[in-house]
Amino acid sequence: MLLEIADLHVHYGKIEAIAGISLTVEAGEIVTLIGANGAGKTTTLKTISGLRRPSGGTIRFFGRDITGVAGHQRVRLGLSQAPEGRGIFPGMTVQENLEMGAYARSRRNKSSRLDDMLALFPQLAQRRYQQGGTLSGGEQQMLAIGRALMAEPKLLLLDEPSMGLAPLIVAQIFSILREINESGTTILLVEQNAVQALGLSDRAYVLETGRIVASGRASALLDDPAVRSAYLGAEVPGSVPGPGSTGPDTVPGEVAEEGPPAPADVRDS
Ligand code: ATP
Repeated sequence: MLLEIADLHVHYGKIEAIAGISLTVEAGEIVTLIGANGAGKTTTLKTISGLRRPSGGTIRFFGRDITGVAGHQRVRLGLSQAPEGRGIFPGMTVQENLEMGAYARSRRNKSSRLDDMLALFPQLAQRRYQQGGTLSGGEQQMLAIGRALMAEPKLLLLDEPSMGLAPLIVAQIFSILREINESGTTILLVEQNAVQALGLSDRAYVLETGRIVASGRASALLDDPAVRSAYLGAEVPGSVPGPGSTGPDTVPGEVAEEGPPAPADVRDS
């Protein structure tokens, strides 16, 4: 098992953003966390990459308990995150941005990895000496992914790579993610673009107000009527949820008073 999270709890002050989640990622997989705004997806990723400390539970990577290991050491162990909102350095060139991702590597390693990234992202190669801030949204996302890959992670963590991008660009990014996965990098993805993310993934977990309410093969979740109406309704052609739809009735950021809606019966078999 590459990543194993058991009974994770994360608090912001008194607010429990993650209320005891357990999940696994096996080597070679693409696994997605889907869920509405405020469900806890970003917090989960940040806790895995070491940007936030959990208030309970354990995180194991290659079987080793890394719950107390600092974020920069996790990068050395093979965990690398491309953050939400891209977080590239606008005043640095594309090449300099990429090199920042390989601070833990030797110079020779860095330069051959840079060549790999420029081959993987031809659009970045064309703009190699251009400042990051002048790139389009899609190119900035590619740069953020490329920078995370410079550290040669075993597990790549991605927070909403499709955010704010046109459908054609999203398709391009997702196809690059498939390529990255096929060349041996395991991916844990956070996405609100659930239909496309499930189409790319092996497995997925559905998060709601800090809890996992459904999980399983991505194809099974895509086919499950309860999951479709609750989480994918608006995106599935021909199934526009109307009044009386069984979709989640929580407003983003609001805490549900009762348990999760229907789809809890989808489980790994
Ligand atoms: P989004 O798609 O909007 O990023 P998310 O599923 O990633 O949503 P999180 O950002 O992880 O959700 O937020 C989970 C919960 O924690 C929410 O209720 C949110 O309001 C709360 N939260 C997140 N960051 C903070 C913070 N810095 N301080 C206090 N509460 C926070």
